[in-house]
Amino acid sequence: MTIRNRAQGMGLMLCAALLTGNALLAPTAAKAAGRGAANVTAERLVKAADEPGQWMTYGGTYSEQRFSPLKNLDTGNVGKLGLQWYGDYETNQNQHGSPLYVDGVIYVSTARNVVHAFDAKSGKQLWKYNPMIQGERLRYNVGLVNRGIAAWNGKIIMGTLDARLVAIDAKTGKQAWSTDTVPASLGLGEMANRYAITMAPRVAKGKVFIGGSGGEFGVRGWIAAFDADTGKEVWRFWTVPGDPAKGAEGAVLERAAKTWSGEWWKGGGGGTVWDAAVYDPVTDLLYFGTGNATPWNARVREPKSGDNLYTASIVAVRPDTGEYVWHYQEVPGDTWDYDAVSPMMTADLTLGGEKKHVLLQPSKNGFFYVLEAATGKLLSADPFTEVNWATGVDLKTGRPIEVSGARYEKEPWNLAPGVQGGHSWHPNAFSPQTGLVYIPAWEAYFTMAGPPANSPPAPGGGFSLGIAMGTKVEPGKLLPYDRQGVRGRLKAWDPVSRKVVWETEPFANGGPTSGVLATAGNLVFMGNGGGKVLSAYDAKTGGKLWSFDAKTAVFAAPITYELGGVQYIAASVGGAAQGGYFAPTHARMLVFALGGKAVLPEPAPYTPPPLNPPPSTASAEVIAHGGELYTQYCSVCHGVNGVQARTSFPNLTVTPLLYVQDGFDNVVLRGARADKGMGSFAKDLKAADTVAVREYLIARANAVKAAGPGAGPVVPPAPRRETGHAEN
Ligand code: CA
Repeated sequence: MTIRNRAQGMGLMLCAALLTGNALLAPTAAKAAGRGAANVTAERLVKAADEPGQWMTYGGTYSEQRFSPLKNLDTGNVGKLGLQWYGDYETNQNQHGSPLYVDGVIYVSTARNVVHAFDAKSGKQLWKYNPMIQGERLRYNVGLVNRGIAAWNGKIIMGTLDARLVAIDAKTGKQAWSTDTVPASLGLGEMANRYAITMAPRVAKGKVFIGGSGGEFGVRGWIAAFDADTGKEVWRFWTVPGDPAKGAEGAVLERAAKTWSGEWWKGGGGGTVWDAAVYDPVTDLLYFGTGNATPWNARVREPKSGDNLYTASIVAVRPDTGEYVWHYQEVPGDTWDYDAVSPMMTADLTLGGEKKHVLLQPSKNGFFYVLEAATGKLLSADPFTEVNWATGVDLKTGRPIEVSGARYEKEPWNLAPGVQGGHSWHPNAFSPQTGLVYIPAWEAYFTMAGPPANSPPAPGGGFSLGIAMGTKVEPGKLLPYDRQGVRGRLKAWDPVSRKVVWETEPFANGGPTSGVLATAGNLVFMGNGGGKVLSAYDAKTGGKLWSFDAKTAVFAAPITYELGGVQYIAASVGGAAQGGYFAPTHARMLVFALGGKAVLPEPAPYTPPPLNPPPSTASAEVIAHGGELYTQYCSVCHGVNGVQARTSFPNLTVTPLLYVQDGFDNVVLRGARADKGMGSFAKDLKAADTVAVREYLIARANAVKAAGPGAGPVVPPAPRRETGHAEN
């Protein structure tokens, strides 16, 4: 071939590539700026159902039903679904982020706010963006996670663990703007450092809506709207009242203030908006869920144990102004960590012969709520999983009918659902074809107990719960029964007849679920956080039709898209699965298609580090003091009782830092590992405190060693971390 011929050949190849590129675009998408531009307009978002091949917003469309009309994949051929390509991330930590697919490109956020863009056909990484989060801020997180991103007008928008909202140029991966969501002008002082963002932003009408997490660390909840093109704040809705001495805050918060007593504002109050938000073009309202009040224990929180508005509630505001329209409080005076933030969706149902536009939420507290979307009127509330704190919900008052003793005023109460939730942040799906809501449901148990007598409420900055974490009750004496842990399963719930239509067996090895996707091919996809698999089920019967060994835990909700006539399934996987100390392999994007033949590499075998701690010589008092401090400040990440299990945080019973107090203090007091998420605790702990914490860990390490290899955890594993459901 001559040089001239070669050049002509290249020209032909280029031409072919351009043609292929054009063919990749759906007709409506072709009107947009093109491939890789994420040119998601207000019109495209409102009419997202007209572009079934795309996945342009967190829940698929504004209804957040996570239902795809694509049906190339169906019950007859899903058995031939295979891995088409995979793309590795930079981390092995828990992945909660549900991806987006826009015009040929997959965008996904990973555990620590790195965003990847992949060519959706080849899997080639187009760019990677790292917002460089401040390590010091990472200690104020129940888990280092991010649940998703928004696409808008050529940009990908994400909230960060250091409470920024950032916009990335979708073509180049370069930062377009970055906004501190808790600026000094709010006058929050030190509290501002305790906010994080883990939820996916939602965009509508040129505004991006985001809330701040951090309820367990003592912050005041809010959701705010920012201009989606510039990042400038438009409005902010505080979910709980502030310090009355700082002046009036308007009628909506004055009403809330009447439901609080004492000095609640010093601990922030909670009510954080950390997951569910739905913009509804039908009513032109923005609905969002609010978290528990802070701290968990209502008696520790405030003397009169009022309703504590607007915590544990669903609230509707006008998206243009943030003006309050209605609220429904699921759990007045919550004392069980029953955040009302589980994913919500809108749907049109025929109830009692009448067509209703409704808002649906299977909540953490175990009840499935149906509300009239325009008014917030409660239409039904029924348990979809095991519930032992309330016998039902009074439809007239909207209040739960509580079970005597469930508030653990005198005796510990083995709560169902436990604080892990009957259902947590893991997205649900609704199929208009079957009329069923697919809930990644859990049976969960957690022992609630009041704090030891005379213990002061935890100051802001610690992990502020107001309960005795890790309370052990003699076997056979747990009230009301002896069950522990989490068992995930898929449940199909009929929101009209208000019952479970089918459910799978609980996962054989226990453990949580992932989020869910439903498709018009009569399929439901769900992963297993414990068993490391992604599966497809028959949407009508629950029969399992396909499974794939992801070699790591699956937590995030999968999505589906269409490209060049092929339907793909995309799942962001990774996390600490049951029985492993760390995620066994890379977290990564997996993309499946019929006949896909890609093969994942085998994970490197994990060898636990040798366990040979220094001798335990400290007094019982010092060890006990260290244990109290550990529980308050360390257990949220590193596990209850010093035993870390099934998490991607270091196991402190095997750290070499146990040998050298100065090295230990370098990390705990001087922030030597701040870049890895272990910020300094110098504001909370003195030198004598860290000696006690280290001695406590040495004692725990020796107990583990004495139990011998293969003994497993010598105390129950951390109840929150094992579920991979980290929240805020
Ligand atoms: Ca919570």
